[in-house]
Amino acid sequence: MCGIVGYIGKKNAYQILIDGLKRLEYRGYDSAGISIINNNSKIVAFKQKGKVSEVESAIDSSEFTGNIGIGHTRWATHGEPNDVNAHPHFDMDENIIIVHNGIIENYKTLQKFLSGEGFTNRSETDTEILANLMNYYYRQTKNFEQAVRNSLNDVEGTYGVACLCAKEPDRIIVARKGSPLMLGVSMEEIIIASDASAIINHTKNVMYLEDGEMAVLTKQGFQLKTIKDEDIYREIQELDFELSEIEKGGFEHFMLKEICEQSDSIQNTYRGRINFDTGVARLGGLEPVMEKILNAKRILITACGTAWHAGLTGEYMLESCARIPVEVDYASEFRYRNPIIYPDDVVFVISQSGETADTLSALREAKNNGATTVGIVNAVGSTIAREVDAGTYIHAGPEIGVASTKAFTCQLMSLTLISMMLAEAKGAMDSENLKRIADEIKMLPEKIQTMIDRREEYKFIAEEFKDARNFLYLGRGYNFPAALEGALKLKEISYIHAEGYPAAEMKHGPIALIDENMPVVFIAPKDKTYDKIISNIEEVKARKGRIISIAFEDDDQIAQYSDFVLRVPKTINILTPIINSIPLQFLAYYIATARGCNVDQPRNLAKSVTVE
Ligand code: GLU
Repeated sequence: MCGIVGYIGKKNAYQILIDGLKRLEYRGYDSAGISIINNNSKIVAFKQKGKVSEVESAIDSSEFTGNIGIGHTRWATHGEPNDVNAHPHFDMDENIIIVHNGIIENYKTLQKFLSGEGFTNRSETDTEILANLMNYYYRQTKNFEQAVRNSLNDVEGTYGVACLCAKEPDRIIVARKGSPLMLGVSMEEIIIASDASAIINHTKNVMYLEDGEMAVLTKQGFQLKTIKDEDIYREIQELDFELSEIEKGGFEHFMLKEICEQSDSIQNTYRGRINFDTGVARLGGLEPVMEKILNAKRILITACGTAWHAGLTGEYMLESCARIPVEVDYASEFRYRNPIIYPDDVVFVISQSGETADTLSALREAKNNGATTVGIVNAVGSTIAREVDAGTYIHAGPEIGVASTKAFTCQLMSLTLISMMLAEAKGAMDSENLKRIADEIKMLPEKIQTMIDRREEYKFIAEEFKDARNFLYLGRGYNFPAALEGALKLKEISYIHAEGYPAAEMKHGPIALIDENMPVVFIAPKDKTYDKIISNIEEVKARKGRIISIAFEDDDQIAQYSDFVLRVPKTINILTPIINSIPLQFLAYYIATARGCNVDQPRNLAKSVTVE
């Protein structure tokens, strides 16, 4: 998920790799490393946890003399961020060394096979298994290219990979499936990068690798082939932007980039975890505590901020699908209100960073009381991930924008998968219904993408409301927490006061606020409460409030009640909070930018709240 650089040419590779890694630094990562084939044809490598500048000060650069090398910034998916798990990874014989972005999904199967062949590992990463596999084939074929090819044919999952071989020290081999990789090409040299930001200061001439392709690079040039060994010819393209534009991948803000990544990030959350033929979901990280969960009288969910909204949605999901009673608490309250925790309770803690201080304290409180703890975390190897009894990573990738977007929808997806897994294990849902959810999940990335592609529509509505001083967000059922989250997004980045409520609660108080200046966002999917929502809309309309509805594309009724309608693709009830969150995020983002706010670093807020 993070960065790859590589260099082959006449210059000293060391500084080019370090500079390239610094250019990828904006993506956020946890460790970095480089490897170079020295002038004496020996491979040298250095890697450690921390920032590129820390790696740079720790390296003895005089040992890195060659002009062929690879580098990596890691964002851990398998194994905590530490020196050993950092890339590059050698195989056991130290013949092949690789850097890798992505996830080798069948690494466990491959590891089992390789350990039968006498291979051992130093790290906990999926990547090291791939390095060992390459050397397993190298021992047989004595051919680097063939070894890489054979290995990639065995791999399931995603990769952008760059590899060096001590026995064939004149080349770099690169390959791609699902993780971006490109070559910056000039007469003298080739730069490899996962992102054009590490290339553009060298050359504007690039060649993008497509999925299923690999290239063999020497000082004489490169040869592009498919992994199945068919020749490919591709024109060199010219980058049509400047360095300053791509630091955020061409997006104006990290937040916008992260909103637009959600089609991919959602897939990363469920990839390899659902059998689409049967509708059965399996989260390996939960297996050790499945018995405990199935026997628990209740589940407690604790979290802060956006993650708490995900938790609240989780309550609706788990109760409805798995029929297990759920209570949701703010971590900061849970910790200090002397809660009743039984040893047979299961406590779920949700945190993007895995370092949220209040959530961590709540987790420790739960553990001290003998409860079983389960983490739903983005940052691999974070404190919460290490301290829980079991858990699942949401695999949203690094989230840099302070206002959480993709982590929220990936938390919702994780909770959906957990609900499906428990529903199946408890026999609370039949296979037909589970299959229906799985089928809808499969279509979700495409549906999210259609909303991202037409974001200009949402922008238009945002312009209209940029000067509002207050906002109300209303929803019911699964979309009540989505309303809370929509309001929070707006508050965080635009500084407009906004409140979320269950739609029916409006008449118990907030209705007093409604006049012609009050925009009210109604989340109105066509579910069993739709008619009630329409009545709530009528109530606001009667008091001259301005109605923005979020509704399915085929809803031909809603327009007559609303001033503006934000259309979303139709889906099943349990997935509507994910679908509806996308326009809510865009609305907040575009209102904030129209007001000239710094959306990536809103005032007074920090990305990961590590103080209580
Ligand atoms: N799956 C690999 C790891 O955990 C690569 C992660 C990345 O893309 O940075 O080390």
